[in-house]
Amino acid sequence: MNDKPLAIMWFRQDLRVADNPALCAACDSNLPVVPIYILDDCNAGQHAMGAASRWWLHQSLSSLAGELDGKLQFFCGDARETLAKLCENLNVTDIFWNRCYEPWRRQRDTEIEEALEEAGINVVTSNGSLLFEPPAVTKVDDTPYKVFTPFYRASYLDQTAPPREPLRRSLPDSFAEAPHSRDLEALDLMPDQPWYQSIAASWTPGEAAAHERLDAFLEDGIDGYRDGRDRPDLDSVSRLSPRLHFGELSPNQVWHAAGQRSSVARLEKDVDHFRRELGWREFSYSLLYHWPDLPVANLQSKFDRFPWRKSSKDLARWQQGVTGYPMVDAGMRELWHTGYMHNRVRMIVGSFLVKNLLLHWHHGEAWFWDTLVDADLANNSASWQWIAGCGADAAPFFRIFNAVTQGRKFDPDGSYVRRYVPELAKLPTNTIHAPWEAPADVLKTAGVSLGDNYPAPIVDLKASRERALAAFKSLS
Ligand code: FAD
Repeated sequence: MNDKPLAIMWFRQDLRVADNPALCAACDSNLPVVPIYILDDCNAGQHAMGAASRWWLHQSLSSLAGELDGKLQFFCGDARETLAKLCENLNVTDIFWNRCYEPWRRQRDTEIEEALEEAGINVVTSNGSLLFEPPAVTKVDDTPYKVFTPFYRASYLDQTAPPREPLRRSLPDSFAEAPHSRDLEALDLMPDQPWYQSIAASWTPGEAAAHERLDAFLEDGIDGYRDGRDRPDLDSVSRLSPRLHFGELSPNQVWHAAGQRSSVARLEKDVDHFRRELGWREFSYSLLYHWPDLPVANLQSKFDRFPWRKSSKDLARWQQGVTGYPMVDAGMRELWHTGYMHNRVRMIVGSFLVKNLLLHWHHGEAWFWDTLVDADLANNSASWQWIAGCGADAAPFFRIFNAVTQGRKFDPDGSYVRRYVPELAKLPTNTIHAPWEAPADVLKTAGVSLGDNYPAPIVDLKASRERALAAFKSLS
């Protein structure tokens, strides 16, 4: 055992050095600090990270290791055992981490905290991922909110107690090391197949790139965000979701940086709306915290009797973006190629899966979990339940998005579809969202042969809508 007292800083969903409350606390301990990361798939069970997230994590850890002068120590396996071994081999007196909210992590962390405290180690945990933690935002009778608007009003709009400002603290000159740590490569996060190359071409993970993106968005993108955020053909959203998920940025940094743009009067409404979206993220975390079964069980139990269809063939066509509905196919291909999908399109493809195809929302949740670089247990589960109509503050089931009218409204000149469904690129705008309506000569000129180089629609929108409504009615 090394005699020198040491502190451990355990990085988790907070892969940054700036505004990191646990790292600040570790540095304030005035002990030499060993920064570690543990890939714990043992405890994650069915919620182990998906493939696209693993790619992101590898890149983001590599960037963080660079920020820490290569001193970030990597471990793989059950975090309980890893920490116990580290404490056996080193004279660890203090351990610091930022809290996580996934049910499996909460359970594991409680056990770890108890074991460490029993061993006489000082455990300090902080809030590094949320503006306000779920127990802090409840109704007057202490029960959790089920509806977004009152939840958001309760804390987030309170000018007297705004979210805390980002912390400022410089790092120590050097970090300590631990025995038996592994290389980042040993975590085996990178895919064997090169499918990730187009994702890699779309993103630069890491804290520095996250700040560049935030600055660029606040400089240009936020102007017109309120309306533009629904337009997948425009560059009007922040694309900060993987940054927030992995903690390359804290929500406090984003909230306050956005707030500074409110000084430009014309941007005030855009900033308010953007902050409201950060509020939706918080709401999802609150739902997950109070309803830990959110990822697996319908919040409205009457949906347990819902007559879902089973069709692996239809599911595969949805996943591959060959449904014959251009807006759906563009979204699913955007997801596959970039690891991201615009929010409006997530709603369109989600509604199409659960309502037009009548396939269980679990299938959509699982596919998104594997393919999104921002896959997030709280946001993904809450959003799928919202789409399926079975969640807390859900869109009513009978709100069925029409993939054609949504496309015409939110991708009015078809440029989003043209980008991701190139075989339709030459179709005129008036038929790009419904190629089957185009006259034969128009299809021919555009080089589109339905059922040949682009599929005919997999279902009829009107008939499948009626089928969905009848299925819903059967619940009452
Ligand atoms: P912006 O519009 O720039 O918003 C800023 C931030 O606010 C986002 O980065 C995100 O953290 C948060 N946010 C925005 N919209 C929402 C929302 N509706 N719910 C919760 N938080 C929101 N988001 C994820 O981060 N991970 C997921 O796994 C995920 N799965 C989803 C599944 C479905 C079916 C749907 C409909 C939505 C899902 N979302 C998920 C929410 C939303 O689509 C993304 O957060 C958003 O598209 C990210 O893009 P952005 O960063 O450009 O968002």
